[in-house]
This record gives sequence, structure tokens and C-alpha cells, in this order.
Amino acid sequence: MAEESVGPHSIEAFRHGYEEESRLRGFRSGCGFVTATWVLVCPRCGIRDLVEADLGSTGRLVAYTVQTVPSDEFLNDAPYAYVVVDLDGGGRVTGWMAGITEESELAAGDRVRFSPTYKPGVQFVRDRPNGGGP
Ligand SMILES: [Zn+2]
Repeated sequence: MAEESVGPHSIEAFRHGYEEESRLRGFRSGCGFVTATWVLVCPRCGIRDLVEADLGSTGRLVAYTVQTVPSDEFLNDAPYAYVVVDLDGGGRVTGWMAGITEESELAAGDRVRFSPTYKPGVQFVRDRPNGGGP
């Protein structure tokens, strides 16, 4: 019975890295496709040997909605924005932004930056133009 190759990565290791380290992890295919979702096969070219890679920590909002009814984990943060972000360099992730009370505070294309937190999920904050940091 032939063993199915599952590649060099495991979903356990990926989840650990995604949630407990201060970086966003994803996978890069030889064809250039980048995804933040754990996959075994490249959806673009079909190869199996995707390479785990660090994703960019900045990107642009592509979709968002304000949550006023939080889950228990976010009781002290509501309302907040649930956001979809296209990362610079590839990969699309879902996350959240604290302190957003109206959808009019955000716009598609707004620059955001990953901000690691002890809270669950992927927190983004506004990325200040012209740096603003070291
Ligand atoms: Zn590919």
C-alpha cells in the first residue's frame, strides 16, 4: 500500500505558528502562488510541495464589517471590525481591528499592519503613512 505524501508540514505545526508566534505564516508555491490557508496542493498549479513561508505583516483592507455582538473572547472589545486583508507580497487573511465602531471609519484599500496580541485571531491596526515607527 503506497503511502500518501503529505509534504513537510503539518497542520498542528502551522496552527501553533499562526497563533503563538508573532508572525503570519503561509505557504508559497513554485508558481508564485501565496496563501495564508493551510493547503496540501497548490490550487493554481497543482503541485504538492508547497513551502511554508513568512507572510508580510502589512497589507490593504479588501472587506470589513463591524461586529457589535461579540463572542466571549471579545466581550471587552466590541464593537470591533472583522476584516479581510490582502497582505503585501501575497496571501489573504481574515482578522479583526479593535476600536472601530462604524463601518464608515474604514475604506477598502486602507493600509493596515499585523499587531500580535494575546487575544485570539489576527489583530490588525492602521498602518501609519510615512512610517511612524522605527
Ligand atoms: Zn502553484
